[in-house]
Amino acid sequence: MREFLSSNIFKTISEVAEIEGVDVYVIGGFVRDIFLHRKSKDIDIVVVGSGIDFARQVAKHLRSKQVSYFKNFGTAQLKHNEWDIEFVGARKESYRLDSRKPIVENGTLEDDQKRRDFTINALALSLNKSNFGELLDPFNGLNDLKQGIIRTPLEPTTTFSDDPLRMLRAIRFATQLNFSIEDKSLAAIEQMANRLTIVSVERIMDEINKMMMADIPSTGWLLLDNTGLLPYILPELSAMKGVENRNGIMHKDNFYHTLQVLDNLATKSDDLWLRWAALLHDIGKPKTKKFIPGQGWTFHGHDFLGAKMIPEVFRKHKLPLNEKMKFVQKMVLLHLRPITLSQEEVTDSAIRRLLFDAGDDINSLMTLCEADITSKNDMTVKKHLSNFRIVRKKLKEIEEKDAIRNFQPPISGQLIMDTFGLSPCKEIGIIKNRIKDAILDGEIRNDFNEAYSLMLKTAEELGLKPTKPIG
Ligand code: ATP
Ligand code: MG
Repeated sequence: MREFLSSNIFKTISEVAEIEGVDVYVIGGFVRDIFLHRKSKDIDIVVVGSGIDFARQVAKHLRSKQVSYFKNFGTAQLKHNEWDIEFVGARKESYRLDSRKPIVENGTLEDDQKRRDFTINALALSLNKSNFGELLDPFNGLNDLKQGIIRTPLEPTTTFSDDPLRMLRAIRFATQLNFSIEDKSLAAIEQMANRLTIVSVERIMDEINKMMMADIPSTGWLLLDNTGLLPYILPELSAMKGVENRNGIMHKDNFYHTLQVLDNLATKSDDLWLRWAALLHDIGKPKTKKFIPGQGWTFHGHDFLGAKMIPEVFRKHKLPLNEKMKFVQKMVLLHLRPITLSQEEVTDSAIRRLLFDAGDDINSLMTLCEADITSKNDMTVKKHLSNFRIVRKKLKEIEEKDAIRNFQPPISGQLIMDTFGLSPCKEIGIIKNRIKDAILDGEIRNDFNEAYSLMLKTAEELGLKPTKPIG
């Protein structure tokens, strides 16, 4: 193990431990990731004694000013070169049933290991001179790591009662590492799912976002569904479950369809927000579902309704309300456009409108739409994909020719007001829209002179007279 602790930072910590006469260990994710051959820059140090006092000595030794102390939590954080190091005193912890506040006492290393979430996260390596590099693994975490098992160090109900977020962390790690959750731990999650309600939305979403970045994110969503955690996390997704049968006519289960789209997308993109767009692209479906005799099931307008629902979903789940939300909203709103377009003749005008509406996000939108093809019929899939290739090719041609992507209207509202002596009024909007439509429909080019002529013509039709000489 020593070779993994060869960095100077471990040497320094070990020397300070010797001088201070305290026992110090690296613990948790960093140790786990050594065995998984994953590179990690976060180091968690547990000190049998005061984490803050020890961090102070280490900072002094390193002449480091990049250190913060969190007295309330008894932790300290030190940044050194590429490392982000957290110090904490070994704790013995137990939560009262009637309160979320833990009773925290100083404890031994093993006490501290017991209050970790999983055996694979409770591994510790000694930094003490006498046994530097020795692995301390009282719960056989190494064995679980080798076998790919997520297991709690104590009785699962005890571990999960102390902090119900751990139920979700079990699923996040299982998804991220492609591990399975041990039976008793899994049963405990099913039994205690409702305890998740006491956990803050922020902590939940941190785990969900890590889960979403896994290679196969559906694994996590399926586990959340099977254990009964899903309704406490994203009820909008639970609402998409199920199929209805009317006179032998069924629609597809939108929950499983969504997960398939998400997995497809995950093979093509590492953009967290595009993955969210895939997850949410059909959330408008449950509320727009209708059975129309002679036609079957329809979800008419689910793109518009879905896009309208996004801000509330983001607000409720404390996801960012900035351009990330706008991006997801735009993807949801436009997700049907390329497919509708490719089913008809792909006209230049339709392509320009799509480019205008999607702007710089056009490639993301096309990626989402390609992921959205989940038909079981190979011929259908092939046909759609080849249509999309045509759409992509046309998009490129039109973009090169017309530069529509970041369309700026060649005629400003100000110029219209100046030319016809107007104050702000609806005629200005009419003229501007007429020019925009003409450009997008290819009646005129995206050019000042052509747009200017059209402005004069439209104004005349509206009965407006120039107050300035034209030119
Ligand atoms: P990641 O690679 O996602 O950072 P990690 O295991 O390092 O994974 P962190 O959230 O950074 O996860 O936590 C560091 C360590 O702290 C964990 O390995 C675990 O030992 C412990 N830990 C974190 N959160 C909890 C929790 N809710 N309950 C118990 N132990 C926890
Ligand atoms: Mg970590």
